[in-house]
Amino acid sequence: MTGDEHRWRPAYIGVGSNLDDPVRHVSEAIEDIAALEGVQRVTSSSLYRSAPMGPAGQPDFINAVVAIRTSLSARQLLAGLQAIENAHGRVRGRERWGPRTLDLDLLVYGAETIAEPDLTVPHPGIARRNFVLLPLAELAPDLDIPGLGRAGNLVHGIMDVGPNLTKLDS
Ligand code: ATP
Ligand code: CA
Ligand code: CA
Repeated sequence: MTGDEHRWRPAYIGVGSNLDDPVRHVSEAIEDIAALEGVQRVTSSSLYRSAPMGPAGQPDFINAVVAIRTSLSARQLLAGLQAIENAHGRVRGRERWGPRTLDLDLLVYGAETIAEPDLTVPHPGIARRNFVLLPLAELAPDLDIPGLGRAGNLVHGIMDVGPNLTKLDS
């Protein structure tokens, strides 16, 4: 025991890619996140394949969720995630939800609620997106998401767990 353990908060990160060998980008990004200073990996979900929710005509996404413990602030963690996106060749286009080599969303940061122009936590898409909720509930069904409740219960609230989402063989 170092006496610092209380500063290590649990956090959950959504990982997505649909360009340029997405399985590789997602797998490498999981390692990159675990290698950040001030981050300890706890576990990561299976990989899932999902139909894109944005503009039509783009490839399917590969998605996963990573559980970490971190001594970073939420803002420091977001900066680290954006640096990893950049290292994976993420180009920030104008089109919302367009194709990308890597997208890292901070889903949950401890029990905190943050509502700032460039940082919203819990991530606002969680409750509606099966490609976030299923991997999250796989890792942490009992997680109490601030303002939303138990991850495992939210899965029952989404309409479509079905054909747009498949778990990849590990
Ligand atoms: P969505 O957030 O709906 O999934 P997106 O991932 O495509 O959309 P991006 O273009 O990757 O959106 O990010 C736009 C901005 O969202 C970022 O510059 C970042 O400042 C902001 N942002 C706000 N909250 C978060 C969060 N919890 N995690 C990651 N980025 C966030
Ligand atoms: Ca996203
Ligand atoms: Ca994002």
